[in-house]
Amino acid sequence: MAMNPIQFQPGLSMPEFFEHYGIETQCAVALEQTRWPNGFRCPRCEGTAYSRVRRRHHTLFQCRACRHHRTIAPQR
Ligand SMILES: [Zn+2]
Repeated sequence: MAMNPIQFQPGLSMPEFFEHYGIETQCAVALEQTRWPNGFRCPRCEGTAYSRVRRRHHTLFQCRACRHHRTIAPQR
C-alpha cells in the first residue's frame, strides 16, 4: 500500500502532532485574552459577538454583526 508522503512525516508521531496542535490552540486563547481582557469587541461596530475562523497559520476573528475580519496576530 502506498504511503501518502504528506500525511506520513518521519519524526512526527500522531501524539506529537496533536500536542503541537493543542499548544497552538492554547497560545491563540492566551493571545485572545491578552488582546481583549474584557472579551472581544469589534473595532468597527463595537459588537461583542464573533466567530472564530481558523486559517493555516493563524486564527481570524470575524464580527457577526458587520463581518469585519480581525486577525489575532499582532498588527505590523
Ligand atoms: Zn463589527
